[in-house]
Amino acid sequence: MRIHGTDVGQRSETVRRANLSAIVRGLHEHGPMSRSELVAATGLTRSAIRGLVGELAGAGLVTEAPAVRLGTPGRPSPMVRLNPHGATVLAIEILVDSIAAAIVGLGGETLAEIRVDRPRGHLSVDSVVADLAGLTRELQASVHDPLIGIGVAVAGVVRRSDGLVSMAPNLGWVDVPLGAHLARALGTTIPIAVANDADLGVLAEHRRGAAVGVDDVLYVSGEVGVGGGAITGGVPLTGVAGYGGEIGHMPANPDGVACRCGSTGCWETEVGEGALLTLAGLPSDAGRDGVEAVLRDAEAGSPAAVAALHHVGRWLGIGLAGLVNLLNPRLVVLGAMHGRIYPFVRATIEAEIATRALPAPRAIVRIVPASLGADAPLLGAAELAFEPLLADPASRVGARDGAIHLATA
Ligand SMILES: [Zn+2]
Repeated sequence: MRIHGTDVGQRSETVRRANLSAIVRGLHEHGPMSRSELVAATGLTRSAIRGLVGELAGAGLVTEAPAVRLGTPGRPSPMVRLNPHGATVLAIEILVDSIAAAIVGLGGETLAEIRVDRPRGHLSVDSVVADLAGLTRELQASVHDPLIGIGVAVAGVVRRSDGLVSMAPNLGWVDVPLGAHLARALGTTIPIAVANDADLGVLAEHRRGAAVGVDDVLYVSGEVGVGGGAITGGVPLTGVAGYGGEIGHMPANPDGVACRCGSTGCWETEVGEGALLTLAGLPSDAGRDGVEAVLRDAEAGSPAAVAALHHVGRWLGIGLAGLVNLLNPRLVVLGAMHGRIYPFVRATIEAEIATRALPAPRAIVRIVPASLGADAPLLGAAELAFEPLLADPASRVGARDGAIHLATA
């Protein structure tokens, strides 16, 4: 057995916790690894990895598969993978026209998911929370693994410190303590973390989607409202209270139409779903089916549909040019409706960016549609709920008898 200098430091509890965190986070973000790969990835010794993996296995958080040869000389190395049933989180997504709930296992596997469309318009917090409690009970009928946290993605402006939904213009909510409402309805004391849907969308795309390995990314997601999330230098850009990233409410067109936030001519009034549908001659609340109809009509050569897409594409390009100048991202990920219409508006967007963005940041940036689809904020909510475990898995090691279950009201 080789003894490295790091083994001495590992006797300290702080270092042990940090090492457990490095292993669990590595497996969670990158998938299964052999013990040899963990040695290479963490810089720890083989014996240290064997001991720490043994602790995690004892707590039910990882499993080890029989040793396999990887085509390299020497002894085969056992594969270590997270046990998705060892710790799970409840992820919740509240959009203007749908709610969804999922139970996600450690490592990111979705074990059960339900999505329900809801009528648009202003919805009472109580009715949304009651519906979510119902979805949760359905999910829990099929999944019985220990639940360690709850993450919530909501289409609104959210205060990071306590999850207060300060304003959700398209839901009609002002100053809603959403986490407390949910805790009461679910009858639980499990930690509940609430965040803006686009902030969680960029987190999910960064960890598991179109932006894996890219540390400077802007996510723009168009639905009824238009949300944005940015990661710069690998760190989420949130602003002082967490209200940052509300790119849908950037003033864009002073001569434009009224926005639900109370202002006039916000970017989302030019590039949101309502703008596309109205310009194409459809009711502004025709929803995703309406967007699909516009795309079909455009393919068939309908002048109104083509003009509506051109309008939205042009304003998207104008706004993105400014954001590219401001943030210098390597990647812009277009989510939801913007990802869907991207093939139709790509040339228009590129023309605006070529005209308006500065040459240096323009030469670096790429624009791609999101790869996680409508589930990005939901998966981001799961990542948010896993964060305390990833930061300190030692809190679960040795806690097997204390598995937390969600009490249903
Ligand atoms: Zn606005």
